[in-house]
Amino acid sequence: MSTFDNETTDRPIGLTAPSGIDRAAHHRLDEAWLAAAWSHPTTRVFVVSGGQVLIDDTADGGTAIVMTPAFEAPVTETHRYFLGRDEKGVSYFALQKDSLPGRMDQSARPAGLREAGLLLGPRDAGLMAHAVALENWQRLHRFCSRCGERTVIAAAGHIRRCQACGAEHYPRTDPAVIMLVTDDQDRALLGRQVHWPEGRFSTLAGFVEPGESIEQSVAREVFEEAGITVGEVEYLASQPWPFPSSLMLGFMARATTFDINVDGEEIEEARWFSREDLTAAFESGEVMPPFGISIAARLIELWYGKPLPRPRSTV
Ligand SMILES: [Zn+2]
Repeated sequence: MSTFDNETTDRPIGLTAPSGIDRAAHHRLDEAWLAAAWSHPTTRVFVVSGGQVLIDDTADGGTAIVMTPAFEAPVTETHRYFLGRDEKGVSYFALQKDSLPGRMDQSARPAGLREAGLLLGPRDAGLMAHAVALENWQRLHRFCSRCGERTVIAAAGHIRRCQACGAEHYPRTDPAVIMLVTDDQDRALLGRQVHWPEGRFSTLAGFVEPGESIEQSVAREVFEEAGITVGEVEYLASQPWPFPSSLMLGFMARATTFDINVDGEEIEEARWFSREDLTAAFESGEVMPPFGISIAARLIELWYGKPLPRPRSTV
């Protein structure tokens, strides 16, 4: 959605912006094509391990994933994921390894998606989200859920096949809803999860349950966590959230009841904030400004109407 493409440049939102990568899924089962793409001199490869990749500073002041041509890539005992091609025809692969390669370059460093997602441009953030999501899924689906035998990797990382019963297993994505609820005075409902540090408030969120529409899920989660009934629900944008396998679906929702009654299990405290309330709470330090790659900060910012202040600890 265009609203999310126009963010300030100091807060990249690589996980919601178009990556410019064509996943070219029709090539995934074509071993000859994949072999040719792998050995092509323009092809770029990076290692993913435990949800991390190596990132490095670029000459123009940005940050990029450290990539090598395939002939420089480590190839022993690896899982190879084909991630797609860019508009110039460059193919991208990720290699799943037990550890990241060592680097002589001082500025290269390992990073997970929560850190790298704030630094990388949309292309690299998209490639990383794809690779990390596949790695998480591969790691947790080594055995067939139908017969219990071992599965093997296929389709350039996008299928696991059971050689005992023939079942094919596909990467799973678990939908989750995240919503900013507003009341009749346009105040925003923000909550604090039980295990969060003091002062951290954010939007409510939860998983979509089986047999439920996403609109029903928004209404159920808000009622369960805060005792508030919502009416109108408007979808805004989504975000891959491979921790380990979610897709965040972001909404604005209108409350039709206003008395807060938190569940005390997931949400310890929830409050209605006017924009003035929130500004004052940021200034006094009572509430920490949300920061990070999560779409939650974007939802709050959209309602707030201007960029949120940076939390003191990250300035
Ligand atoms: Zn099986």
